[in-house]
Amino acid sequence: MKQQYQHFIHGQWRAPSDGRYFDKTDPATEENLTSVARGSAADIDAAVRDSQAAFPSWRALGVTRRAEIMRQVAAAIRAETESLAALQARETGKALARSRNDVVVTARYFDYYADLAHSLGGETLVGDPGSHTYTVREPYGVCGNIVPWNSPLQQASRGIAPALIAGNTTVVKPSEETPFSCLELARIASEAGLPPGVLNVVPGFGAEAGAALVAHPLVRKVTFTGSVRGGRQVGAMAAERIIPLSLELGGKSANVVFDDADLEAAIPAAYGAIMGNAGQICSAGSRLLVQRGIHDRFVAGLAELAAQEKVGDTRYGATMGPLTTRDQYGRVLSYLDIARDEGARIACGGGRPEGAGPKGWFIAPTVLIEVRPDMRVAREEIFGPVLSVIAFDDEAEAVEIANGTEYGLAAAVWTRDVNRALRMAGALEAGQVYVNNYHGGGVDAPFGGFKNSGYGREKGAEALHHYTQIKTVVMRVSS
Ligand code: NAD
Repeated sequence: MKQQYQHFIHGQWRAPSDGRYFDKTDPATEENLTSVARGSAADIDAAVRDSQAAFPSWRALGVTRRAEIMRQVAAAIRAETESLAALQARETGKALARSRNDVVVTARYFDYYADLAHSLGGETLVGDPGSHTYTVREPYGVCGNIVPWNSPLQQASRGIAPALIAGNTTVVKPSEETPFSCLELARIASEAGLPPGVLNVVPGFGAEAGAALVAHPLVRKVTFTGSVRGGRQVGAMAAERIIPLSLELGGKSANVVFDDADLEAAIPAAYGAIMGNAGQICSAGSRLLVQRGIHDRFVAGLAELAAQEKVGDTRYGATMGPLTTRDQYGRVLSYLDIARDEGARIACGGGRPEGAGPKGWFIAPTVLIEVRPDMRVAREEIFGPVLSVIAFDDEAEAVEIANGTEYGLAAAVWTRDVNRALRMAGALEAGQVYVNNYHGGGVDAPFGGFKNSGYGREKGAEALHHYTQIKTVVMRVSS
């Protein structure tokens, strides 16, 4: 880790124009890690103008050459897997193995969209005699990409890679909580041959750098991943400017387990669906809907797994790290109070883990039972290692509870009955439905939300289309 991080603009480290830096805290020790440039509107302006200047030549390179460079970037990311994984693990607090997987997927995004390079064709339309009509997909220009803190490398790259292969350039504003890995990603890409200005990274705060990016007149498309609150603010600005926006927001995803499910598979999967990354995954299975007859057995299985978890500093063998931010730690603790006040029972966990010491934003894996669908802990996103378990009697009730929130990011169903699986997959209001698994799907599987979980899609060919605009050419052909 560097002593101090600056912006990465035009293939170089660049000091903030007003000389301001801010400190980033280690979530496991609460010690200061290092300081980072605090992006201002002037820094965003410099980054966007540089990106705009790089756009014509990047676009003119053509898809074949762009794809070659993207593959070079993927290889360079892989070559630095260990250092990049360690850096992201340090800034987020997540386990190294999980962070390493994020790096693998990050490289894969660059390869995958390089593979799609030649799929950016349009259509030839059958018109009346005397006319010839065809469509082409054109890039927007500079795309803004605003990234949260839970998996910054994956979240940044799933916006960067499709934008670049389509011929756009991009300016990334990482979260103020986890700026380092995105900055190093830009440095690696630049050293691997990405021309200066094609990918600029300006760290800073949402209300300053983030808002300036969305407001910048040269930014023609924005991708925002984060909270509903932030998404609303960005959405209002994008509406004012009439620019397209992809919003990937929060969730309160239902993991529905019927009594005919393979419990040997469903119990550990349900545990991992919420406890992975200490619950800081937008599509986490944070509501477990379990059929009443298997409820007690299921909860006992979850509590056993929770007892095996080692919560602490993941550099020293812990399997579950801290919450990444101080605010998030306070928020999760406050939800545990709300759960108690609302009458939910705590089957395991419920606060700081025993023996955690005074420092670090640690929460023990917590399972709440006797949760009713109207409770706040059943409706609101907690974004921590807290599972709300709700018992149900039949399929109709399961669907009603599952769909009874403002969110619709993911859902899962566990059953051996294929007809029920298909009925449930059709009835669940969610952008992703997993059947007999949780968190399945690779970089090719479109990802995004229904309802307040957002609009637009990341990943897959679907995302690529969000980074292009259709031009229709109608030619008159004389006879
Ligand atoms: P957040 O909204 O506070 O911040 C996200 C990013 O937006 C940060 O970079 C922040 O600086 C920036 N930002 C905030 N307000 C802004 C504004 N007004 N203008 C411009 N930029 C602004 O969210 P967070 O706390 O970093 O992330 C946690 C949330 O993100 C959770 O709700 C989680 O569910 C969601 N999330 C969603 C997905 C997904 O793919 N759907 C993935 C990860 C996280």
